Amino acid sequence: MAAPGTVPTHTSATSDALPEGGSREPKQLPDLIRLKRDGSHLTEAEIRSFVHAVVDGSAQDVQIGAMLMAIQLQGMDLEETSALTRALAESGQQLEWPKAWHQQLVDKHSTGGVGDKVSLVLAPALAACGCKVPMISGRGLGHTGGTLDKLESIPGFNVIQSPEQMLLLLEQVGCCIVSQSEKLVPADGILYAARDVTATVDSVPLITASILSKKAVEGLSALVVDVKFGGAAVFPDQEQARELARTLVGVGEGLGLRVAAALTAMDNPLGRSVGHTLEVEEALLCLDGAGPPDLRDLVTRLGGVLLWLSGQAETQDQGATRVAAALDDRSALGRFERMLMAQGVNPGLARALCSGSPTQRRQLLPRARKQEELRAPSDGTVERILALPLALVLHELGAGRSRAGQQLKLGVGAELLVDVGQRLCRGTPWLRVHLDGPALSCPQRRALQGALVLSDLEPFTAPSPFTELVLPLMSVQP
Ligand code: URA
Repeated sequence: MAAPGTVPTHTSATSDALPEGGSREPKQLPDLIRLKRDGSHLTEAEIRSFVHAVVDGSAQDVQIGAMLMAIQLQGMDLEETSALTRALAESGQQLEWPKAWHQQLVDKHSTGGVGDKVSLVLAPALAACGCKVPMISGRGLGHTGGTLDKLESIPGFNVIQSPEQMLLLLEQVGCCIVSQSEKLVPADGILYAARDVTATVDSVPLITASILSKKAVEGLSALVVDVKFGGAAVFPDQEQARELARTLVGVGEGLGLRVAAALTAMDNPLGRSVGHTLEVEEALLCLDGAGPPDLRDLVTRLGGVLLWLSGQAETQDQGATRVAAALDDRSALGRFERMLMAQGVNPGLARALCSGSPTQRRQLLPRARKQEELRAPSDGTVERILALPLALVLHELGAGRSRAGQQLKLGVGAELLVDVGQRLCRGTPWLRVHLDGPALSCPQRRALQGALVLSDLEPFTAPSPFTELVLPLMSVQP
């Protein structure tokens, strides 16, 4: 019965209940949407029929949006989430690799952060450690940045690679970073773009299916997912992020994927740069053995987890030490340069980017036309730099999309000129904004100034963002 004051929206609740044996009459898309809208459990066949309609174009955009919203509001249990993951993965081709590579095949994915350029560094660093990394990555979602968009700020970089080209890339370089495509997980491409513009990003089943469908086709030995929590994460609350982490690990196990999920804090931006080209520049610093400590810490720890989980290192620490060595001896940078060339970047540009000084690099990548600096309004210790208001203003300035397929302003971004924990005097420049349009508006300046949280604390060293690791129940090493 409907709750007092509510109107029943349909009268066939009993006919929607799943009969014994678990199947119902085949349904039209509006019926499937209604079932999910009203909280029913969808069968594997129903989920597949929705995904088919998405890929063959028979589902209208409004129907896709409505189904996504129904899933967002009603959720999905583990069985439905696994079925959605399989259906998305099977919407395209499965990647196949030489048997001898089995143990070396690893990958990392993030639920989305601000300033998160870890994948750009970690894929080549793992390749330098002897791994094969067939990374199918994503674009920006909501206020969070996307690895593919960042790489596309390097002129010539081609994220669309066929399975045959990926095989060559893994043979010759050891890693590649590519997009889903018409051949690879096409259904995720469509749903991902729709979620970005329909307020359906923060859904545990949709995130799980989106991430794991891409990884299920990669034929991996081990996957680590960086599940962000905190003010600028898709799930600010650590307990909700932990639920996502457990779902990723559990659904992964059911699919035969060995998944670990790291819970990492996303309150402050990661590193000192936010925005596409600025983040590529910072990734290059890290690949050169330098760069901000929080970025290097996350790269080495996530890499350590992967080397251990895939049985290529005895402990996580040993794995992390190997990744750090690949950054320090520049072998990771060498792999990055080869990956750029193999994915379409002019060899002269790839070489110049990977060997030039930071100032020389800046001339080689798209730049915003103007810069504005913001100054500390008072003395104090930087307690936090809130990543969310920063990301929202940059999104507004053109660094993010509000319509599917929208062109990004790749040079737009911000450089943090100070560190969390640092003591500042009033008037010290703390943020440099790179922008392409008119000057910052008053509300934008106010929002950005609000991101700087000063306090009377003694100066301190910011803690590592890595807080917790969720592992599969059955133990992990192969
Ligand atoms: N990355 C993905 O691929 N999908 C999501 O939903 C979030 C992050």
